[in-house]
Amino acid sequence: MPAIPSNKPYRVGRSRTGLGLFATKPIKKGARIVRYFGPLLDSRKEKDDAIENKYLFELNNRWTIDGSVRTNIARYINHACKPNAESDVKPRKRKVIIRAIKNIEPGDEINYDYGTDYFKEYIKPIGCKCVACEKKRKKQRAEARAEKARLKAKAERKALKQAAKQAPKADKKKPSKSARANGKLLNGHGAKSAAGRTAKSGISRKARKPREQSRASA
Ligand SMILES: [Zn+2]
Repeated sequence: MPAIPSNKPYRVGRSRTGLGLFATKPIKKGARIVRYFGPLLDSRKEKDDAIENKYLFELNNRWTIDGSVRTNIARYINHACKPNAESDVKPRKRKVIIRAIKNIEPGDEINYDYGTDYFKEYIKPIGCKCVACEKKRKKQRAEARAEKARLKAKAERKALKQAAKQAPKADKKKPSKSARANGKLLNGHGAKSAAGRTAKSGISRKARKPREQSRASA
């Protein structure tokens, strides 16, 4: 990791996406943090125009900063959709300054928005891992889980209802409270079919039991 003079309010450290730049001192909103710098590439020069890497910072149609040099500490700053810093671009001076747009506390990771073009090309295909997007994904996962649980509960209620409908018939031989309560189920015809059903499936009969009792007591 690059050595950074101790008078600077930041250090390079491990972030969720690899390396990142972290505040070591409070940084006030509006304060200049670090310059994004590197060789200037001229798009009119074929050799310059052929250079391709993830750290190209386009100033305008003609000029691009090649920030891939190791000494460009700003290249460690990760993208965030809700960042605490911004890239302040001065095309005429061919300069980019990373500036705080919020008060940044020691330990906070410093982020800025890389912009739509970069996002589309490099971030979207792999999924943005910034705090805001992770939070959004977490919320979506929780909602999906809740919906799944809701559907499962609904299906269970339906199954219980159906079981309860059939339960009094199945219990004909040994009249239970609920069977007695429903007098018309006590005829012989019902008993026959109930016996057949019981023989077919002992499990479902067992499963029906608790429901009968709860119905009877209700
Ligand atoms: Zn994001």
